[in-house]
Amino acid sequence: MSATPAAAPPDAAPDAAPAAARRAARVRRALLSWYDANVRPLPWRRDRDPYRVWVAEVMLQQTRVEAVLPRFERFLRRFPDVAALARASEESVLAAWSGLGYYTRARSLHRAARALRARGVATFPRDPAIAARLPGVGRYTLGAVLSIAYDMPYTALDANVVRVLSRLARLPRPDARGAPHQGLAEALLDRARPGDWNQALMELGETVCLPRIPRCDACPIAGACEAHAHGVTHEYPPAKARRATQRVRLALALVHDDDGRLLLERGAFPYLPHLWLPPARLGDGVRPDGRSAGTFRHAILHRQLEVEVLVERVPAAVLERRAAAAADRADASGIERRVFSRAARARIGRSSLLTKALALAPLVPRGTRARRRR
Ligand code: SF4
Repeated sequence: MSATPAAAPPDAAPDAAPAAARRAARVRRALLSWYDANVRPLPWRRDRDPYRVWVAEVMLQQTRVEAVLPRFERFLRRFPDVAALARASEESVLAAWSGLGYYTRARSLHRAARALRARGVATFPRDPAIAARLPGVGRYTLGAVLSIAYDMPYTALDANVVRVLSRLARLPRPDARGAPHQGLAEALLDRARPGDWNQALMELGETVCLPRIPRCDACPIAGACEAHAHGVTHEYPPAKARRATQRVRLALALVHDDDGRLLLERGAFPYLPHLWLPPARLGDGVRPDGRSAGTFRHAILHRQLEVEVLVERVPAAVLERRAAAAADRADASGIERRVFSRAARARIGRSSLLTKALALAPLVPRGTRARRRR
């Protein structure tokens, strides 16, 4: 972990300060004034509680504010503090995370809460050496929580901030250590209000300095922006070489009984090993039994899945036997298989892969069908 507090900015004495430092001070003033006037009343900004800020920052990685808002409130009602999160089962944490994707973040958050409870620590620690050792706490999370919750002078570079800085100074793509953006972020950081400053940069990137068409006419720092001055905002940040899309065929088996109870497994599907999913076969593996209910497409990172859904209705006793037989075989592999009722499925972290499969082939209990026919 290389996160360190930002170095002192070189603008303490305006008269003697170099032009770059005076320009940095102007940018700070303009952006913070804009932020003060436009700050959105997001729930994690209310009291800057370190635990709430931490949860919000983990949720916001790869996910837009609008998608996070309802799930944040729901998660906090269920797990209002570190102790509640640490006590919870992983399954219930993943269930509360449903819809946010990137479930590794939820698992890391949960493990971090347990690590804190084991040390008797009640919230995200103020000590960066302790915080940086927690599962899932990388440079960004560390800087964001320490600056926002504790007003400590740390930078926090997310994709929005990288985009703003790239355009502001016409920077190349950041390297693995975040250079040259990290250096510019440290030079610009407002040491009197580091939390507000970081959030102002994030907010500008999220609402004004938009990825495709930035709203430069509404931008408080347009006068200092090099990409805007040269009319080349579309060239920054420079595009990265796209990873080739990998096309993958997948067969998902919805094996269920008359009551809509479904066989699910966890640990077998390599792209989503922590989620409960129907038994699956990748590529040209042996096709599961069942009638085909159709296909749908689903993307996981750079993989484009062509998913065929196969449905097999079996007696309840057969379903239980299959789960039990699979459980016997699974000891060595670590793969779990269980039968889930409709209500039990609602309580687990659910991949949109399963949601799409069930939308294509709803498991209508036999009795329900009979009633409809009458
Ligand atoms: S002037 Fe335009 S491109 Fe430059 S920071 Fe502002 S919104 Fe982004």
